[in-house]
Amino acid sequence: MKKIGLLGGMTWGSTIEYYRLLNEETRNRLGGLHSCKILLDSVDFAEFRELISKDDWVSVGTKLAQAGLNVEAGGADMVLIGANTMHRVADTVQGALEIPVIHIADAIAAKANELNVKKLGLLGTAFTMEQDFISKPLAEKYDLEIITPNEDDRSVVHNSIFDEFAHGKFLDSTRKEYLRVIAALKENGAEAVVLGCTEIGLLLKSTECGVPLIDTVQAHVDAALDKAIV
Ligand code: GLU
Repeated sequence: MKKIGLLGGMTWGSTIEYYRLLNEETRNRLGGLHSCKILLDSVDFAEFRELISKDDWVSVGTKLAQAGLNVEAGGADMVLIGANTMHRVADTVQGALEIPVIHIADAIAAKANELNVKKLGLLGTAFTMEQDFISKPLAEKYDLEIITPNEDDRSVVHNSIFDEFAHGKFLDSTRKEYLRVIAALKENGAEAVVLGCTEIGLLLKSTECGVPLIDTVQAHVDAALDKAIV
């Protein structure tokens, strides 16, 4: 089995999910006592939050590329950037490395293909919903149509990520808001909804949402293991 380099801490609550799922899915695939070979570089999210709030994506890219170099030097065979938003700098990270970055959009597309759906609702930070670093590869490489919530609902989703989930808070009142936002996406034709932020799955864990969900942590883990276990 190949070794997976994981860039984590964005936020650490979702990195725990990556770690758990990488190991559980490895056991499911290989059986017995098998577990996943992982090299983790976990960053201080406060440093990234500050750079993002200053719109300093160049420094975000430099820091994440360094984290990628760290896991490459430690013997990782591939890299997962453990956050959707940070895929804004995926090209910078890939450009610094010899080993491949497993892009989260490719992982989303593989799940859409399994579900046989073409029109996806996308939830995530404002960066993920309003910029095109996730939606463009989905549209151009995979011919998928992406819709997002209206402006008010995008604010609800964005604020919940930074004001609640990043602090480890998962509230019933917020879960109800997400159910409403997801229902509106379905009403607008979404055949599945992408949880395009790695903490949203923690909020919606085993909640019936009335539409298939694509959890990007699960999708990313599965895509990595498809390459790691050959
Ligand atoms: N983990 C989140 C994501 O998947 C948001 C936190 C961040 O800005 O990295 O986008």
